[in-house]
Amino acid sequence: FLGGKTAIVTGSNSGIGLGVATELAKAGADLVLNSFTDSPDDHALAEKLASEHGVHVRYIQADMSKAEDCRALIEMAGACDILVNNAGIQHVAPIPEFPVEKWDAIIAINLSSAFHTTAVALPIMRKAGWGRVINIASAHGLTASPFKAAYVAAKHGIVGLTKVTALETAHEAITANAICPGYVLTPIVEKQIPDQMKANNMSREDVIAKVMLQRQPSGQFATVEQVGGTAVFLCSQAADQITGTTISVDGGWTAL
Ligand code: NAD
Repeated sequence: FLGGKTAIVTGSNSGIGLGVATELAKAGADLVLNSFTDSPDDHALAEKLASEHGVHVRYIQADMSKAEDCRALIEMAGACDILVNNAGIQHVAPIPEFPVEKWDAIIAINLSSAFHTTAVALPIMRKAGWGRVINIASAHGLTASPFKAAYVAAKHGIVGLTKVTALETAHEAITANAICPGYVLTPIVEKQIPDQMKANNMSREDVIAKVMLQRQPSGQFATVEQVGGTAVFLCSQAADQITGTTISVDGGWTAL
């Protein structure tokens, strides 16, 4: 049902971004994939998705830590019916030791990039008379954990930006919502496992069960397909009046 629509997904050469892009392609959307790299693998991934789903897919390199790259990505895409702000990084450290450059990078990539892409995308959506802004926030957009100051601040920030975007587009056929996943086993989570094993003197299995999924009452990771399916739902007519809100895909984390 998304035939003829173009979806731009930031940070979509792995993990949740790739999962969301894949589900949107299954629903018929043309895609613009993105990351900060520009490797043969990135372009091969675009070709693979195009041939598997019979849609147009382009890969555009742009560094979401840079305002001008964020804005150029949307301009270069030429069309933007669906904007998924997904690019994100993590760093874990207590506030006094939190490296300033990590704070700046997380705020830039996880929060400011969405402001820049949205600023360029909204006039394009208005011209087309339809649009969807989907921000990939996190359970950490609604609640906190120690040692994740920048990430939690950025994710709370993007929930706020989502609300403002929704209010500024409320009278138009444009919606803006945030999806708040709990733990999804992607590279960003994989990278935290060795540190948590060291910090807690635990096995990989115990870190997953007792540290990570202890927050998730379902006891299971959410999947990239489930986050992607939620994005597809937000693009459907059933979601026309859903705007300015968050949808949790977190196995009950934020109900605790
Ligand atoms: P990931 O590391 O697999 O994906 C991150 C993506 O962002 C990659 O494609 C990476 O190339 C891209 N990226 C990183 N820096 C970039 C930059 N400067 N410019 C452009 N692209 C850049 O991790 P993921 O789990 O798929 O994370 C995707 C989003 O989902 C993030 O915003 C993350 O905070 C959020 N999220 C993840 C989880 C989880 O448990 N995995 C939970 C909640 C929210």
